Amino acid sequence: MEIGKYSWGIGDRFTHQAEAQLKALILAKNAGIDIVPVWNKSNREHTFIHSEPASTRAAADAAVNASGWEGQYFCDADHINMNNVDRFMDTCDFFTIDVAESIGKEATSEEIDAFIKANEKYIGNWTIPGIAKPFVITEDEVRNIAEKFLFAVKEAAVIYQYIAKVKGEGNFISEVSMDEVNDAQSPVEMFFILSAIARYKIPVQTIAPKFTGRFNKGVDYVGDIKQFAIEFEEDLLVIDYAIKAFDLPKNLKLSIHSGSDKFSIYPVMGNLIKKYDKGIHVKTAGTTWLEEVIGLAEAGSDGLEVAKKIYAEAYKHRDEVIPPYATVIDIDFSKVPKPEEVNLWDSKKFAESLRHVRSNPNYNPDFRQLIHIAFKMAADLGAVYTDALNKHAGIIGKQVTENLWERHIRLLFGI
Ligand SMILES: [Zn+2]
Repeated sequence: MEIGKYSWGIGDRFTHQAEAQLKALILAKNAGIDIVPVWNKSNREHTFIHSEPASTRAAADAAVNASGWEGQYFCDADHINMNNVDRFMDTCDFFTIDVAESIGKEATSEEIDAFIKANEKYIGNWTIPGIAKPFVITEDEVRNIAEKFLFAVKEAAVIYQYIAKVKGEGNFISEVSMDEVNDAQSPVEMFFILSAIARYKIPVQTIAPKFTGRFNKGVDYVGDIKQFAIEFEEDLLVIDYAIKAFDLPKNLKLSIHSGSDKFSIYPVMGNLIKKYDKGIHVKTAGTTWLEEVIGLAEAGSDGLEVAKKIYAEAYKHRDEVIPPYATVIDIDFSKVPKPEEVNLWDSKKFAESLRHVRSNPNYNPDFRQLIHIAFKMAADLGAVYTDALNKHAGIIGKQVTENLWERHIRLLFGI
């Protein structure tokens, strides 16, 4: 089983928007870009919402049938580990194996020595085609990288083997993710991580490193775009080289986590994958749930009331909703409006404050981030929320499709 060149992680927290999401990919297909939809939802999200992975599969299947989609599509067990993978086994065919927590735990000295020996030819001065600056690698450096990452990759292999035993090899896509950490991985580290992945025989098709800069949830990239561009380009070239050097799957590509709304780097990524004819996977979970709230606000009357209620709850419970996402948000509370103020807003003001249109003076990224991580508050509203989604499905669906197509896909692919 091989995933297509371009794929899109379309998380759908409340499983109401699969068809509207798929519509964006149909628009892309009609414009000549084939993108594989991957419905991803993490264990964390399922837990907050009290949902099961089977519901994601059911929503994806229903959307595909209703839309007459004939291409590939997948359900991604996002950020799983050994403790929770079982829950996803029956209904997922894409597994994002998250070993961020194992980074820094040390493998045995025998394993580390064997890894260094296997990579002996990469110690010294050598180059990767396309990267002007030569790599100058010392044995100590390889040892440091092995001490930091070898155990984590081995752990990923154990999880991969466990999934493969149940589902059968070749019946699912494997991703290895290391993005939810503080330190970015350099292209050199990426090279040796891929060496380890090959050594432990994980047929990885997508890999999610931590890049330089901040990938805050649902808002634009914060960081040095020039530095990001250098790193991204080198990662593409390193992967290309590693595929041949270590006999990794030929379609191995980068997976961009917290990839939604990173508008200032989309053209950078789009140009570079075009330049080298490479694939990409972009995870955009979360951005769709915000479009639901925007749609409710746009709907006015009872819809707007539900949107305001969610915000008031989010504000009230901010100390509870922030900690699980602390490394991937940056909220300036001096710029977050009080619920009493928001309660006076009309549809337009609420929708424009939340919608990610940077040129709109009402757009408030701090307000947006707080709502982004507060989907648990909507889940707690239960039928009040889902009934509102059903009632205003038309206007919400329009927001969902437009967001993915106009602001995300068109910008990334330059169409
Ligand atoms: Zn991630």
